[in-house]
Amino acid sequence: MFNKVLIANRGEIALRIHRACQEIGIQTVAVHSTADRDAKHVLIADESVCIGPPPPAQSYLNVPAIMAAVEITGADAVHPGYGFLSENARFAEIVNSHDITFIGPTAEHIRLMGDKITAKQAVMDAGIPVVPGSKGEITSDSQAKQVAEEVGYPLLVKAASGGGGRGMKLAATADDLLEAISTARTEALAAFGDGSVYLERYLELPRHVEVQVLADSHGNVVHLGERDCSLQRRNQKILEEAPCPVLTEEERQEIGGIVAKAISKIGYLGVGTIEFLYENGEFFFIEMNTRLQVEHPVTEAITGIDLVREQIRVAAGEKLSFTQDDIKFRGHAIECRINAEHPRTFVPSPGKVREFHAPGGLGVRLDSAVYAGYSIPPFYDSLIGKLIVHGANREEALMRLKRSLDEMVIAGIETTLPLFRDLVGDPDVISGDYHIHWLQHWLEEKK
Ligand code: ADP
Repeated sequence: MFNKVLIANRGEIALRIHRACQEIGIQTVAVHSTADRDAKHVLIADESVCIGPPPPAQSYLNVPAIMAAVEITGADAVHPGYGFLSENARFAEIVNSHDITFIGPTAEHIRLMGDKITAKQAVMDAGIPVVPGSKGEITSDSQAKQVAEEVGYPLLVKAASGGGGRGMKLAATADDLLEAISTARTEALAAFGDGSVYLERYLELPRHVEVQVLADSHGNVVHLGERDCSLQRRNQKILEEAPCPVLTEEERQEIGGIVAKAISKIGYLGVGTIEFLYENGEFFFIEMNTRLQVEHPVTEAITGIDLVREQIRVAAGEKLSFTQDDIKFRGHAIECRINAEHPRTFVPSPGKVREFHAPGGLGVRLDSAVYAGYSIPPFYDSLIGKLIVHGANREEALMRLKRSLDEMVIAGIETTLPLFRDLVGDPDVISGDYHIHWLQHWLEEKK
């Protein structure tokens, strides 16, 4: 096992990783920008190193500074968290080339899954169902038209390097196709430095359902069920739950089995998420995330498995301590992403937190790096906390969510707490009857 892990991240996820390390008995090193001197992840870690000024490019994405911090602290592993360098294959290579363990999959797997075109091909070859569309990149107008004819409209033009809900353009009819492709190409080139795009059937009212996997280096792979992340705004997840309210036990075992088999075939290591759109009883792969997800706690709640601990254990070469049959799904869990944003306009609201009161009680978990008196810097993602509730069933989880949201206080800044207080009373949310566009419609209606 590792002696010291450097956590190349900030905010709630840095704390989450620190907690897992502490329970295993591993020392932690926090890295931080000058804007984060008083951040909780810095205060709580065993050691900390300042790696640069506030802009992420000069600090949390500054590979030479992070490697220098590894060197001076003598860390023997790096945990990248999510975002920042977590899906940067080059960073994983650099870490490994210094005989330090990158806590994640191999650089080859990050690269394979980081390009949506190669990812789609790889999982398709391994037996996972995908969204019908072009076989690979679109390189000519005539090829685009031919694919469109075969697949039908509406079509989605997607960037191979897209991420965070960006790099997608809808072509409703044949009239829009070529223009959508050219805009998507230009935008993708500007945003990701890679203009390759592909075509996919646009699913009208699907749910977003994703399967969590965990693999060790001894050939063992398990799936930990699914999460439903259909409540999204601009393709960004807002609320997640496990299990998916509309999936049958049969469907769950079937898709879980297909995914675990495919992941084993691919030879993947660590935690990973296979994301699907789910419509009319069918699953369609959209992408694989080769890292820990923001929403991993809902899976932890219903399985009782510490995903971060297991991720660290398998990275250290240990065997999974349980088999698929040992994994039992218990009850229902819901997570709300609390952002420092206005609850209706979603304008970021950094600043000083005057008051902070965390909800508590049975089945309530709060992962947050905020404390009273803390000033939220304006340079980073607006996620400031995750409220996760667990109940014996969905009804109890919702009841607990309502109660904890009422209890929670964050004063001094705007947060999305009032949005969740409204959502939790909505009949569609209560019945679980929603799809990926539901929230956008709901927000427009409430304007
Ligand atoms: P990103 O890497 O940007 O998160 P994804 O491929 O995971 O991109 O897609 C993000 C979201 O975009 C999905 O959760 C879904 O809401 C929407 N989306 C992606 N592909 C399709 C599709 N073929 N049809 C309809 N919606 C889609």
